[in-house]
This record gives sequence, C-alpha cells and structure tokens, in this order.
Amino acid sequence: MKIAILSRKTNLYSTRRLVEVGRARGHEMRVIDTLRCYMNITSHRPEIHYKGEVLTGFDAVIPRIGASITFYGTAVVRQFEMMGVFPVNESVAISRARDKLRSLQLLSRKGIGLPVTGYAHSPDDVEDLIKMVGGAPMVIKLLEGTQGIGVVLTETQKAAESVIEAFMGMRANILAQEFIKEAGGMDIRCFVVGGKVIAAMKRQAKPGEFRSNLHRGGTAEPTKITPEERSTAVRAAQVMGLNVAGVDILRSNHGPVVMEVNSSPGLEGIEGATGKDVAGAIIEFIEREAKPNRTKTRGKG
Ligand code: ADP
Repeated sequence: MKIAILSRKTNLYSTRRLVEVGRARGHEMRVIDTLRCYMNITSHRPEIHYKGEVLTGFDAVIPRIGASITFYGTAVVRQFEMMGVFPVNESVAISRARDKLRSLQLLSRKGIGLPVTGYAHSPDDVEDLIKMVGGAPMVIKLLEGTQGIGVVLTETQKAAESVIEAFMGMRANILAQEFIKEAGGMDIRCFVVGGKVIAAMKRQAKPGEFRSNLHRGGTAEPTKITPEERSTAVRAAQVMGLNVAGVDILRSNHGPVVMEVNSSPGLEGIEGATGKDVAGAIIEFIEREAKPNRTKTRGKG
C-alpha cells in the first residue's frame, strides 16, 4: 500500500516508528509536511499539491496533527477524504476531539463516566458553578490547554472564585471540574486501535504535583486495567469516532472517569513504558480497513 503520514517533522519518534514499521511490512511510506500541502477544491477533481507536485495514488493517510495547527490540518485530512483516501482518523473526529467541552458533552450523552464538570459564561454564575461541581478543592481548565498547561487546582472556594473570575476577565474559555483527589496524581492512558485497547500505561505525577503529564515531570509504567476501564476506553474512542485514540482515565470513587480523548496520541511514551509494538498495530489496522472511499463522512461534510 501507499501510505501518507501527515506530520510536521520526519524525525519525531512517532513518525519514525510508523515509517519504519510500514516499510518493514512492505508498504510505501511517505511523510508529508501538513503545512506544505495546498489544495485545489475544484468540482469533481479535488487535489492536494505538495511542493509543486500533485499527490496521487495514496491508499491511506495517517494524520498526526498537532494542536496548534488543527484548523489547517483537518482541512488537509478532509481533502484526502474527498479524494477517496482512507484516513486512520477522520477529519470531523479530530476536530471533535480537539474541543474538550464538545468531547465531554458527547461522552456524557452516551453515559460514559466523567468528572462532574461545569461551564459558564457570566461572572454572576460563578458561585453556583462552583457549588454545582461540588465546591473546593476543584480543578479549573482552559479549554485550549494542552500538556497540562492551563490546568489549575484551587484548594479553597475563594481561590476558585478568583481564578475563574480572572480567566473570565481575559475572555478565556474554561471548565470547572470536580477534583478527583483519590486518583492520587495518577492517570491511565489507554491506547485504542480499531476498537481494542492494545496498550495501557499508568502515569504518576511527580511529588507535590497533581498533573501526571509526562511533560510535567510525570513517570510512566505499564499497568493492568480492569474490564470496566477497558470498556470505558473503547466506548469513549467509539463515541468520538476515532479509530486510533489515547483515552486518559482517572480512577475515581465512582468508577473510571474519562478526562480526555486524544486523536494524535504519541507513541514514544506508550511504546517505551509497555514494550508493545503500537506502530505495528496502527499499520495492521490500515491493512485490514483501508479501502477507497471508506470515509463515513463523505458527502456529509
Ligand atoms: P491536558 O489536556 O492539558 O493534558 P488534562 O485535562 O489531561 O489536560 O489534565 C492534565 C492532568 O491533570 C491530567 O493528566 C491529570 O493527571 C490531572 N487532572 C486533570 N483533571 C483532573 C481532575 N478533575 N481531578 C484530578 N486530576 C486531574
């Protein structure tokens, strides 16, 4: 097969691994810089141009779209879809997952365990918002944050009010969330490919920190997950419409709760911690599923 990897850099671990494994399995792998794709949106003959060349003949595309280029990146993935190329994750699913609020709303509709979460616009509603999520200590999150930046733990009611008011004053969109204290700074990353959890690791925050992000100094190790956690992760990926997803779960007193579903989960942390061939699982998924015009959203936008 001829497989495109949309990625800004060829030397990123995830990109390198996908190229290496794909080639070893006999595929033609090509890394395409997302931001160098430009598009011809003509009737009947949608095209992607790349550094002066017209891209043709691809069977599948693996989008690795960074959060900072979501808009342009999903437009490029969509253009591949219009050309009938099979996307590992569809453009609409990527856009959905990038919006934390929209994701939580969709997950809640399907009854997936979530931390109690509130969203408000007016400073007049802050007091009730705080009450709604169970009061302090609580977590306040910037909707646009990644890698743990913009996630704040407020210990007291007063601190929560001040932080929310400050963010609102800056016109930042924020979520107020129940603090899952019993998680003890630990979360579980379940890596889902094609409706199965193929690897799972637990990430522990460094001492004195509640955020377990590896970028915030957290450490990772393999873990066994419960059947309930496994089905929560699989259902979360399915609700979001993602074939490949990193589902982040906290162990709460009221069962597993989903914090986030990531549409371009990194391979380095999970392969390093678990020793599993995650890149291989993604390529095998493409071998099973990729057929021309297999995008569900085709024709619907
Ligand atoms: P980001 O997308 O920036 O990584 P997250 O929402 O995943 O933001 O939060 C970062 C980390 O903070 C999580 O991995 C988790 O360890 C911790 N965290 C987030 N929300 C909560 C919460 N409601 N209760 C306890 N810990 C939380």
